[in-house]
Amino acid sequence: MVSKKTCPNFNHSRSNISIRYCPQCGEKFNSLVQSFCNDEKHRARRKERHVYCMDCGKNLKNDN
Ligand SMILES: [Zn+2]
Ligand SMILES: [Zn+2]
Repeated sequence: MVSKKTCPNFNHSRSNISIRYCPQCGEKFNSLVQSFCNDEKHRARRKERHVYCMDCGKNLKNDN
C-alpha cells in the first residue's frame, strides 16, 4: 500500500505511538494516550515549530 501522506513525522512509520496527534499534520495517532496540555504548552510547541498540539490536535498556527 502506498500512503498518500507526505508528512515527514517519523511517528507515521511506527506501530506503537505514544502521542495522540501528529504535531506536523494533525492526524490522530492514538486516542488511548492520556496527555494534557495548556496554553503554556501550546506556546512552547509553537516555538518548536509544531503545527498541531500533540495532545489536543489544535492548530497552533491559528492561535494568537
Ligand atoms: Zn503527520
Ligand atoms: Zn493542546
